[in-house]
Amino acid sequence: MVPRTEAVYLDDATLRTLSTEVLSSQPISSLCEEEKSLAKNVPTEDNAIIMRQTIFYAQGGGQPSDTGAIALVDQDPTFEVSLVRKTPDGRFLHFGKFLDAASSFVAGQQVVQRVDDSKRNYHSRLHTAGHIIGLAMQLLMPDKKKVKANHFPREASMEYEGLLYNEHKPVIQEKVDELVRLDLPIPISWLQGVAQVGDGEGAEEGRSHDGRTRIASIGGLDHNPCGGTHVARTSFVGSVTIRKISRQKGISRVSYDVFPGIEV
Ligand SMILES: [Zn+2]
Repeated sequence: MVPRTEAVYLDDATLRTLSTEVLSSQPISSLCEEEKSLAKNVPTEDNAIIMRQTIFYAQGGGQPSDTGAIALVDQDPTFEVSLVRKTPDGRFLHFGKFLDAASSFVAGQQVVQRVDDSKRNYHSRLHTAGHIIGLAMQLLMPDKKKVKANHFPREASMEYEGLLYNEHKPVIQEKVDELVRLDLPIPISWLQGVAQVGDGEGAEEGRSHDGRTRIASIGGLDHNPCGGTHVARTSFVGSVTIRKISRQKGISRVSYDVFPGIEV
């Protein structure tokens, strides 16, 4: 049985390359049904690589997967990573294709992972902007309970119980702008046990198998259990725009975007 993957990005989200060991490399068609179902929209002739450690963020907690490449040490990349998913028992499946269909990796080989830097930064800014809106809402309307968060490009939003209207938009925008301008630090820490603070959107991903919970804070004002990737300071998100406030069945959605974006 291949052991769980050490998710290195949880402790250091700044790494964009990492040398590690291949534990398994196999075609998606040979995976079990449960793992196959994780490879949604990936061609079945593609492959799944598991390594001892990873710096690739696996899709979850409202944040999209990283993409990138894997190379043998001191060689050009031979494998393009299109999607990373985590199995329930903590193994990270790196789905993608070999540039030369005839090549492959074998267990025990040392490889170098390379994460697509511009996409990771963009995803981290979108995700962190969600936390900043969450903090702005907590400061402005502490009684509004957050129910959902989505940090995907073009559909990023935070959802709250109760009704919010267009008149709230400039108020939220102003508070968000202020928090960005304050350039607050966003430290990551670990708590023993399951944290009772907040209901972070990535809380599930932030729960460690050894019983610790990862906490993303904003300048001592906000503490959320979260397994996502963040920028180091609020100013690093760039400019956050509250695009729209919409309502459905008693839930209000605050849609937002960050600028500059990237060509995805
Ligand atoms: Zn987060």
